[in-house]
Amino acid sequence: MTVEPILVAGEWRRGRGDVYATRYPADDTVNAELAAANVDDVNEAIETADAARRRPEWAALKPHERAAVLYRISALIRERAEELAQLQRRDNGKPITETRALVASAAGTFQFFAAACETLEETLTPPRGDYLTMSVHEPLGVVAAITPWNSPIASEAQKLAPALAAGNGVVVKPAEVTPLLALELGRVCERAGVPRGVVSIIPGKGSVIGDAIVKHPLVKKVSFTGGTSTGRALAKLAAEKLMPVTLELGGKSPTIVCEDADLDHAVNGVLFGVFSSSGESCIAGSRLFVHESVRAPFLERLVAKASALRVGDPADVRTQMGPLITSKHRESIERYVQLGRDEGGRVLCGGERPQGGLYDRGWFYRPTVLDGLTNDARISREEIFGPVLVALSWRDEGDLLRQANDSAFGLAAGIWTRDYKRAWRIARALETGTVWINTYKQFSISTPFSGIKESGVGVEKGRLGILQYKHQKSLYWGLNDRPLGWAD
Ligand code: NAD
Repeated sequence: MTVEPILVAGEWRRGRGDVYATRYPADDTVNAELAAANVDDVNEAIETADAARRRPEWAALKPHERAAVLYRISALIRERAEELAQLQRRDNGKPITETRALVASAAGTFQFFAAACETLEETLTPPRGDYLTMSVHEPLGVVAAITPWNSPIASEAQKLAPALAAGNGVVVKPAEVTPLLALELGRVCERAGVPRGVVSIIPGKGSVIGDAIVKHPLVKKVSFTGGTSTGRALAKLAAEKLMPVTLELGGKSPTIVCEDADLDHAVNGVLFGVFSSSGESCIAGSRLFVHESVRAPFLERLVAKASALRVGDPADVRTQMGPLITSKHRESIERYVQLGRDEGGRVLCGGERPQGGLYDRGWFYRPTVLDGLTNDARISREEIFGPVLVALSWRDEGDLLRQANDSAFGLAAGIWTRDYKRAWRIARALETGTVWINTYKQFSISTPFSGIKESGVGVEKGRLGILQYKHQKSLYWGLNDRPLGWAD
């Protein structure tokens, strides 16, 4: 197998770090071999990106010209959509229906930020003297985009598109286990006319090259998606440099079923919210709060449907849950389920690996529901990042809000009710960045996304998401007919 090149400083070449193989989580066959970037590659990529982003080919583009490059990226992703979706299926093991949606969303993200780029207005502010005042926005410089393995291409697009739209140079460090889509995005950027060196794609272990990226003096912002502990370590390094960061971190989202909910909608929504993407989703609704008066019938329906979810071959369009990302990750989920049992939980369904055929070759795990625990149990408090739902209950709204907000995380929540006034009250009182009402895990690039508490810092997406990658500058234009009087 040939060693795949990576994109460093405008050149496709072998990274100077370790050679490693990436694998298909459904059967453990090798996808690709590549040589990771080392610290020298990191430094070269950053220095080249800084030089390239200052050249007129990139720096002097008018907004509509830069937007045209992003529109071309979007069109090229669409042209290659099926190929990219199949590659992502192998890279990450997600079902093909899901990877098709993620590729489409990446194309939409570039289109959206192209539009944001060419329509972004700068402002004249009200003058308070003999001058004209303006507020304009400048690129930050080189931005580092560090992404996790759970939604390749969509995560990278969410950072790369606004960072390029804002006129920056960008180094993208995808997760070491899922580098392939980011590398393809690098090829797409080149074909779309992003000048050489403006973008580098440098796969590698965070523990080896992460510090070098974050500490480099030419890196002016890190946009990070990943685990809370990694985000916290990175924020400490960034603080030394007084560098802004955007951190999209972990979650343990409550999904709330009221006694007046349409239970058919709620059952399907809760299942989709926690088990799609095999639960490897920051926004997974992994804490179920069901009103005690409907708890028994709700759980009966939920468990019957969870047990019938189709776990299997990601290439099959009927598959609802593919494998987990690695055997090590599956073992960590198994430890959590065991912990739940040890803490007195009852496994209502799942709690085991499926057996036979493909199941024996990949990292599959059955959708799992536990009850008999409280919101204080460790598996109710820690992010499991797998197909595990903890079923809790509530009596009145005060009790519900106390439990739902009693979490280190504050990423997302769901509410199922027919009472819109109650939905409004609960939604406003939940300490999270997103609340879905009678739906779950719907995403729109035009709607801002953020986490609070240990789920993150800063906002991504939305029309003004582009401003996260620019700094604001004020201009004062003197209109005086005479010299300033002070010196006379
Ligand atoms: P992770 O924190 O282990 O890794 C994320 C990225 O950071 C990877 O590219 C990794 O190589 C890199 N990294 C690791 N150590 C680093 C260091 N010291 N310096 C710089 N970079 C370093 O997370 P993961 O296991 O890949 O992803 C799962 C986590 O991501 C979960 O906690 C999940 O909730 C979170 N996530 C959050 C969102 C969101 O939008 N809030 C979205 C997706 C995933």
